[in-house]
Amino acid sequence: MPCPSKPRLLLLLPTATYRAAAFVEAARRLGVELTVASELPSTFQQAQPDRLVTLDFSDPERAAQQAYQFARTHAIAGVTGVDDTAAVVAAAIAERLGLRGNPVSAALAARDKHLQRKELARRGVPVPRFELHELGEDVSDLAARMHYPCVLKPLRLSASRGVIRADDPPGFVAAFARLQQILEQPDVAACGGWTRYVLVEDFVPGPEVALEGLVIEGRLHVLALFDKPDPLDGPFFEETIYLTPSRLPEPARRVIVECGQAAVAALGVREGPIHAELRYNAGGPWLIELAARSIGGRCSAVLRFTAGERGRGKGCASLEELIIRHAVGLPIPSLEREQCAAGVVMIPVPGAGVLREVRGIAEARAVPLVEDVVITAHPDQPLVPWPEGSRYPGFIFARGETPEAVEAALRAAHGRLTFVLG
Ligand code: ADP
Repeated sequence: MPCPSKPRLLLLLPTATYRAAAFVEAARRLGVELTVASELPSTFQQAQPDRLVTLDFSDPERAAQQAYQFARTHAIAGVTGVDDTAAVVAAAIAERLGLRGNPVSAALAARDKHLQRKELARRGVPVPRFELHELGEDVSDLAARMHYPCVLKPLRLSASRGVIRADDPPGFVAAFARLQQILEQPDVAACGGWTRYVLVEDFVPGPEVALEGLVIEGRLHVLALFDKPDPLDGPFFEETIYLTPSRLPEPARRVIVECGQAAVAALGVREGPIHAELRYNAGGPWLIELAARSIGGRCSAVLRFTAGERGRGKGCASLEELIIRHAVGLPIPSLEREQCAAGVVMIPVPGAGVLREVRGIAEARAVPLVEDVVITAHPDQPLVPWPEGSRYPGFIFARGETPEAVEAALRAAHGRLTFVLG
C-alpha cells in the first residue's frame, strides 16, 4: 500500500522521450508517488492502476476531466508535462484540479511560435519581425518581397525541425518547398491545422544562449545560462555544444535574464520550468523562443544543484528533483547550480543512413573531464539529418573547473567517435 502521506505527482510523458528514467529516479529519491500519464494505454496499466493512466493529450479539457476522475481515488499533489503538448495538458489539469501550474493560455502561447511572437511583440519583448504565410501562397511573389536573411519555420515542431534560413529569393523558394514537404509528411500533417502555415522571421545574428529557469509565482529563477559556442548561422539549426556558466560579460547576461523575465510575464507563465533560446547582439537581447517545459533529450543530466544548507553532505539534486519539488509543493532547499563548469554535446547526425556501429566510445569516455558518453540511437536505426530530422544519436557530458576546459574535453571526446553508417 502506498503511504498516504507521500505526495503524488502526475507526470505527463509523451511516448517518444528520453526523460522518463530521470523523473522516475528523482521521484524515488524524494519519496514522491509517481503516476505516469501517456497518450497510449500501456499493457502494464491494469496491473498498476495507480502508477499508469491514459489521457487524451489531443484534447486538454477531456484529459483534465480524465485526470479529475483519477484524482477522486488517488489524490494528486502536482502535475508536470515533459514536452510542449504535455505542458498544455498539464496546465488544463492544474486549472481543473486547483494545482500549481500555468494558465492554459500561457502554455498555448509557449507552444505555438506565431501566437508566441504576437504576444511577445504586443508586450514589447524584443523579437524579430515576423509574418505568417500559408502553404499554397504564391511563393515566388513572397520571395521577391522578403527581407534577407530570413528564417522559415513551422509553428509547432520542436528541436529545430523544419527551421531553415534563406539568404535570397531562390533560397526562400527552396526552403519553403522543403518545409512544405516536412509539413506534409503524414505524421506531421495529422497534427492539425497549424501544419498548413509557415512563419517567416528576420534572421537575428549574434551568439545564442539557452536559459533554463524555474518560474515561481510569476518570477523567473535562473537555473543555468548556457553558451552555445558553435555559431548557429544556419541554414539548419541542429544544436551541438551547451556550456555553463556563460562566458558572456555580466551586463549581457543581466539583460538576457531580464528579457527572459519579460517574456515569462508577457506570455503569462506563472509556475514551473522554462527553457528559452535568446540571441544577443548590438541591438541587445532577442527572444527566439520560450517553452514552458525543461530542457529536452538527455541534456538535463548536465545540471546538478547544490543541496542547500540543510542538505549538506547529501549530494546534489537533479533538475527533475527541483521540478518535482516545485510541482508538489515540497520545500526547495536551493536553486543554485553546483560551482563547477559543465557542458554537453548533442552529437550531430553524421549523415543520412542506417546506423551500423559507433566506434571509439571507450576512448571518448577516457578523455579527462568527460563524465559520460550516451549513445541513444540503436544499431539499424535510420539517422535523419536536419531539417527533416530532430533526434540526436547521442550525448556527451563533461564537468570541470572552467568552461574552456569542459569545451575542449567535449570536442576531444566527440572527435574520438566514429559513426559507421550503412
Ligand atoms: P524549435 O522550437 O524547433 O527549436 P526555434 O524557433 O527555437 O524552433 O528555432 C530553432 C533554432 O533556430 C533557434 O535556436 C535558433 O538557433 C534558430 N533560429 C530560429 N529563429 C531564428 C531567428 N529569427 N533568427 C536567428 N536564428 C533563429
